Amino acid sequence: MATKTLQIPVSLSVEEIKNKLRVVDSEQVQNLLEVAHPLISAQAVYEVSPIDEKFVDGVIIDGIRFSSQVLRKNLDGVDKVFPYIVTIGSKLEEKARHCTDLLEQYYLDTIGNIALMKVRKHLEEHLHSSFAIACLSYMSPGSLPNWPIEEQKPLFSLFKGAEHSIGVRLTENMLMIPRKTVSGIFFPSEVTFYSCQLCQREKCDGRKAKYNEDLARQYKLKE
Ligand code: SF4
Repeated sequence: MATKTLQIPVSLSVEEIKNKLRVVDSEQVQNLLEVAHPLISAQAVYEVSPIDEKFVDGVIIDGIRFSSQVLRKNLDGVDKVFPYIVTIGSKLEEKARHCTDLLEQYYLDTIGNIALMKVRKHLEEHLHSSFAIACLSYMSPGSLPNWPIEEQKPLFSLFKGAEHSIGVRLTENMLMIPRKTVSGIFFPSEVTFYSCQLCQREKCDGRKAKYNEDLARQYKLKE
């Protein structure tokens, strides 16, 4: 199946940004959004990729080998997955980088992160409705030691250069440019899987679920 490209509308409300930034001044947030909104250009590419083979500690997806026992376990009973790349473009991060006011720089950067998470959520909802899948989860290379950042390379190779159509490239150091870009693989699941459930990092603002020691044992990450 050919790569699908989506242009994604992003709407950010003053209230949600106030809550996330812990700012009480509505006018200040309104001003920040007036700066940020026009600089957000949200796009996604995704594939519908068959799983060709499964091993103890990896899988072959559309001819490309991925090594991770966690990813492999998550794909039990799954025969197709949705590799994706989403971005909000480079303009907002450039604006933030050139800000001399460090607090404003932080606010614009955080608004970019919030927008990026909304864009991924939009893609998830698109996949739900387009493929009639009740529950989807995702994993991203580098989110767990068991699926290291180097696995960006095989992930990007699934797109055969189609990421350039949304202005994204992967550097030799596995950095995605623009930096406000996320990638990963959506897969059907019975219950929502969060990499955070297997991650012991403390004090992470992005944590979506508590660390679960029993689950870590089920994934053979712990004795
Ligand atoms: S807790 Fe933080 S670092 Fe760990 S997987 Fe979740 S978001 Fe990533």
